Amino acid sequence: MKSHYITWLKYLFITCLSTVYSCGQKNDMKNTSPNNPYYSHTDTTKLQVSNEEWKKILPLNLYLVAREADTERAFTGTMWKNDSKGTYYCAVCGNKLFRSTQKFTSMCGWPSFFEQENKNSIWFRNDFSHGMERVEALCSRCDSHLGHLFDDGPAPTGKRYCMNAVSLDFVPDTTTNNNEKETIVLGGGCFWCVEAVYQNLDGVEKVVSGYSGGNVANPSYEEVCTGTTGAAEVVEITYDKKKTNLDEIFKVFFTVHDPTTLNRQGADVGTQYRSVIFYKNDNEKSIAQSIIDELNHSGAFSSKIVTKLEPFTAFFPAENYHQNYYNNNANKPYCEMVIRPKLEKFEKVFKDRLKK
Ligand SMILES: [Zn+2]
Repeated sequence: MKSHYITWLKYLFITCLSTVYSCGQKNDMKNTSPNNPYYSHTDTTKLQVSNEEWKKILPLNLYLVAREADTERAFTGTMWKNDSKGTYYCAVCGNKLFRSTQKFTSMCGWPSFFEQENKNSIWFRNDFSHGMERVEALCSRCDSHLGHLFDDGPAPTGKRYCMNAVSLDFVPDTTTNNNEKETIVLGGGCFWCVEAVYQNLDGVEKVVSGYSGGNVANPSYEEVCTGTTGAAEVVEITYDKKKTNLDEIFKVFFTVHDPTTLNRQGADVGTQYRSVIFYKNDNEKSIAQSIIDELNHSGAFSSKIVTKLEPFTAFFPAENYHQNYYNNNANKPYCEMVIRPKLEKFEKVFKDRLKK
């Protein structure tokens, strides 16, 4: 393992690539067919999205229940009697709401729970509609209507969260709720380049280009390009911990971009191109910091590493035309002159670690 590390370090002495083309191709069309860009099982940022926009994104039956407080018919679907192990998420935004261990089979015909996943996942308000006095339950992330809270539930809480099945997404434990999958968000200049590289690393299951950092929610590419939003071009990497790990992901990162140029990669200049790792916890931060310390100490780079470690707050997927950019645009000059050499360098250094 140690010798592999030294080989890897040697490669870092290879002169950095100079880029002549900049990342922006401003005349690309913005894709206008969103398939719910707000949905996330990990992002807890509060959403402020108008009903007008939700109406364009959500299926009509979900829109009517979640955004206009309609009630679905009792015994709709099979979720009310589902007793499989898993997690229930808000169908509008993906916010985690309940675990299956908090559910009980109520004969009322709607999925019922006695407790919410955590005290911040659902909020309540009085509801005097239809001549009744009830307590309405709403998703804390997107403020969608979920159902009502009653006092006739089982022990230990005595509560009954009476939910509309259409407002919930159920994910069984065996498919996605396993601890083998992790995500990390990092920026190394133009996201087209970084995405293309990680798509080829064994153990990486998904790479999404997007924006993180700054104070603007869901910024557009044009806004990020101004350099005034504080957002960086980043990729969100989903990886399988059985096949790769953060250490390797960071080594790839420091191989394929120049971490010593402040707010710049080649011809791409601006804070949106900063070298940055968005850590979600102390463990991620310390792995990143120790590899930076090692590299600084080893002299692999002639200047000090300026990669920023910033706490993760939110990830916003970029417009569809930015996704899978290299594969879709391999003949464009930027891809041939800037992305291809980085890919080749990656393929050479990590030749044993490429996807089959
Ligand atoms: Zn929600």
